[in-house]
Amino acid sequence: MNKLVIKLKKDYPDIKFSAGKRFTWSPEDKMVVFKTSALINKVAVWSLLHEVGHALLGHTIYDNDFHLLKLEVEAWQKAEELGIKYSHPIDSEHIQDCLDTYRDWLYKRSLCPACSTSSLQVDERTYRCFNCGTEWHVSKSRLCRPYRLKQKEALI
Ligand SMILES: [Zn+2]
Ligand SMILES: [Zn+2]
Repeated sequence: MNKLVIKLKKDYPDIKFSAGKRFTWSPEDKMVVFKTSALINKVAVWSLLHEVGHALLGHTIYDNDFHLLKLEVEAWQKAEELGIKYSHPIDSEHIQDCLDTYRDWLYKRSLCPACSTSSLQVDERTYRCFNCGTEWHVSKSRLCRPYRLKQKEALI
């Protein structure tokens, strides 16, 4: 198993670590899922630290898209600390790229399909336009939207 995963398991015995198809934090199981095959890539290592960030902060539920964004920001702050601790320092540019991807996605969800006004979320799956009154539904958002890897990112 990956050396970093072994260290993390030892340092945080309350968190379970499990190999899976993508990087996620499952609050119900207190489990960080990671993609073993990807861990040779530094961006993947950062994703792992980000998920551990959610785990250490005890992130569970979120009320709406903007609360979700706040949790993402906090998880990256924690991941930055972990990056220093475990000698895998995270590029602040990468963090900004991830958060920008989130912001763009949230912004697009908030646009009224009828008049394109950026509107307010009224509950987990509903937005309502304050300009024309149209209501629309969105898929349930989730933590850690996959971030599309860019070509320039080097292997460790
Ligand atoms: Zn509208
Ligand atoms: Zn996240």
